[in-house]
Amino acid sequence: MTAPAARSTAQASTGEDEQPWQWPEARWRGIVEHVRAGRPLRPRGWKNDARCAVALSFDSDHESGELREGGTSPGRLSQGQYGARVAVPRLLKLLGRYQVPASFFVPAVIAQLYPDEQRRVIGAGHEIGIHGWIHERNSTLPPAAERDLQMRACDTLEGITGVRPVGIRTPSWDFSPHTLAITREMGLFYDSSLMADDDCYELLLDKEATGVVELPVEWIRDDAVYFNMSRYLALRPYTAPSAVLEIFRREFDAAYAEGGLFQLTMHPHITGHRSRIWLLDELIRHISGHAGVWFATHAEIARYARDNAA
Ligand SMILES: [Zn+2]
Repeated sequence: MTAPAARSTAQASTGEDEQPWQWPEARWRGIVEHVRAGRPLRPRGWKNDARCAVALSFDSDHESGELREGGTSPGRLSQGQYGARVAVPRLLKLLGRYQVPASFFVPAVIAQLYPDEQRRVIGAGHEIGIHGWIHERNSTLPPAAERDLQMRACDTLEGITGVRPVGIRTPSWDFSPHTLAITREMGLFYDSSLMADDDCYELLLDKEATGVVELPVEWIRDDAVYFNMSRYLALRPYTAPSAVLEIFRREFDAAYAEGGLFQLTMHPHITGHRSRIWLLDELIRHISGHAGVWFATHAEIARYARDNAA
């Protein structure tokens, strides 16, 4: 019913109901090649002769985790409200103390619930990027709905902050077979949802260069993986904040040694707690102790990587 358009050529010679083990080469190859990492965008050196770029990001999901499931639980909504009420102010204070910029990715519904928060984020010199409408799962949407929501989300953020977003992080990093075409059509400069490299690269759509820069993420560098919990599932935070700090620090240390990019994804309602915020404090202190580190927004780093690719 909503078979991705990209599959159409690959499926020309075969039936829809074939199992993956029955697929002819054209089909599995077409699926893999639909959205792909193209040329690496890794500069020889970073801005101001820095040897490492540091891209901190916060996905301000707040209540959208509950809303996108169709949930109405005041209990779970309150967990999201903590993100806006306590965590974002706490994080902004920390970032301000170190004078480091970051990128915030905000669902449009959340931006409408907390317009002052978004204006404060922009006012403090940070970036706001697209993060869906209500944190919807793109892969489950009809293509026309995904396109409409992505475009309206961008307009909504611009209407609230006065700054038009130039990048997108798909909610839950759920990147549908249609997302890249929509992103390119919108003229967005970068995406930060995919994982094919440690450093930036250009995205290919059906083997064609799109001009869209990917600033890659990884679950390894995401606080949610270590700290999420669900009362009714076996999901619990199994990793101590001190161990999470060690993982993040090793990711940075290796990026620094290689002269590459260190990118981190955090969530205010997850990392903004008293027993966890210190790990970000400690991490920024550790990074700042190195010579030649460039803290910048995702937009700045994506642009620099594209314009100065080795
Ligand atoms: Zn999110």
